[in-house]
Amino acid sequence: MELNDFQAQIAKYDLFRPSGKIDMAMLDKVLGLTGEAGEVADKFKKLIRDNSCEMTAADRTAIAKELGDVFWYLATLARYLDIPLEEVAGRVFEKLDGRTARGTIAGSGDER
Ligand SMILES: [Mg+2]
Repeated sequence: MELNDFQAQIAKYDLFRPSGKIDMAMLDKVLGLTGEAGEVADKFKKLIRDNSCEMTAADRTAIAKELGDVFWYLATLARYLDIPLEEVAGRVFEKLDGRTARGTIAGSGDER
């Protein structure tokens, strides 16, 4: 499935509609994205704390589901901002290719 098709198809599961402004619907997506990312981190925390860093197939599936939740919020927030998901993905390569060309792939800082 193409990313933009995915982004369009999941819109039917959104309880809200984008207004073009920063509002409760958009805040729902921002908080949802961070919340779901926290759920991914929590899965790993529990694997470290309770399972000696061992991961079962069920753990992997559970993490995949949470990554899907992250992906849903990411795609939906991008839709609210009128940013096609393929543009979001393309910007990753644009940034990383630029850092590679400048020899700044390692290090820190958003603009390097
Ligand atoms: Mg979740």
